Amino acid sequence: MNVADSQRLESAFEKLGLESTARAADADVIVLNTCVVRQSAEDKAYSYLHSLRPLKANRPEIVIGLMGCLVGVKSNGRLGERFPWVDVFAPPSDPTPMVEFLRQRAGLALDQSEVAERFAAQDNEIVLPLHQRGQLVAAHVPVVLGCSHACTFCIIPFRRGVERSRNVDEIMTEARSLVSQGVKEITLLGQIVDRYGYDLQSPISNPQSPTPLVDVLRLLNDMEGLERIRFLTSHPNWMTDDLLDAVAELPKVCEHIEVPVQAGHDEVLARMKRGYTADDYRRLVERIRRKLPGGSIATDIIVGFPGETEAQFQATYDLLAELKLDVAHTAKYSPRPQTVAQRTMPDDVPPEEKERRRKAIEDLQERVVGEINARLIGQTVEVLVEGEHKGKWRGRTRTNKLVFFEDALTDWRGKRANVAITWTGPWSMQGVVATDSGG
Ligand code: SAM
Repeated sequence: MNVADSQRLESAFEKLGLESTARAADADVIVLNTCVVRQSAEDKAYSYLHSLRPLKANRPEIVIGLMGCLVGVKSNGRLGERFPWVDVFAPPSDPTPMVEFLRQRAGLALDQSEVAERFAAQDNEIVLPLHQRGQLVAAHVPVVLGCSHACTFCIIPFRRGVERSRNVDEIMTEARSLVSQGVKEITLLGQIVDRYGYDLQSPISNPQSPTPLVDVLRLLNDMEGLERIRFLTSHPNWMTDDLLDAVAELPKVCEHIEVPVQAGHDEVLARMKRGYTADDYRRLVERIRRKLPGGSIATDIIVGFPGETEAQFQATYDLLAELKLDVAHTAKYSPRPQTVAQRTMPDDVPPEEKERRRKAIEDLQERVVGEINARLIGQTVEVLVEGEHKGKWRGRTRTNKLVFFEDALTDWRGKRANVAITWTGPWSMQGVVATDSGG
């Protein structure tokens, strides 16, 4: 989400005549786009913010901006008092305060009506920053902003605001703009992306499906030049059969579902207010696998949630050992201000125990995914090449697995290659080009 927001901001700045620099120290304008989902992310943001202070002291004319979840949708004056070297604050997904500030300060030379016209033309349209045009193969399009689910551990509803789906025209305009700049793969984003459209009066004219996200996927599937479509993150309770059928039927939509379980014990799930049980999740995984054979599933796990006993953690471990999912993003519970968990549940799992549980899941996944990937040796998979890395082409399969291959003779960026897999590990695979699928 922040990557997409930063691209938007950068392209908006370019419209004001700014260009990017390689080093922050060389810049006249520095914007820090922040995440606070865990304390570690917030600490990183503070540490970087403090490192900018001497820069501002030496060159008071530079503009420093703070954007994203550290600011939040309901910004208060206190951040300004804490960080007096910051000139401007902007909420997540909204570059307007930054652009307005620069327009008024640096853009005075520009004719006001001309600027207004330029921004009107850009409304709802993401134009990639110059250095990414024709270069970026896979891009993100936020389709649901904010979240209204209020899991007890999560700060996002407080910082990104209530759930707001964007209208279909906006999404399509942005997608077309990205495709016209060379993008081949679009990932639709939302905290609960499978809830897309339920908050809108009429999400789409002539709806074909009771699941509004399906209609967006259909429209994108018909978009010329676009080759792959993904969506994340899904919530188990909103994953309809209709949506899974669309993934199976629509050729451009990739068979990869990101659907966090967070914990494998019902008491922990209830205290997290996730709204499902471990058995519900088991049935969901079965359903996904039935509808999308050969597809992949990614999940998120929080270890050390308040009150999580050894036996409850073991239930999460056992669930993952049983389900053998392709990815488990694992995080140690971090108390976040304002959340129900932070206010009412003591953070009672010691840090070293959280780390032990995190490591246990990581080791398990390494084995599980190593085995899943090893089955691909000798098989040919379609890889959409995103770029080069250390002399090799780097891309992803439809199931979102990372593949590297060598070929000094062809420029594969943005093309689909059929790659015969020769080596696999838990985190990546290698292969050789079998044939060009003409992508
Ligand atoms: N909204 C999605 C959901 O919860 O289903 C996923 C997006 S969320 C930004 C990314 C992940 O961060 C969550 O799935 C969760 O595992 C993790 N996370 C959120 N709050 C956390 C917290 N307080 N401590 C540790 N991890 C957290």
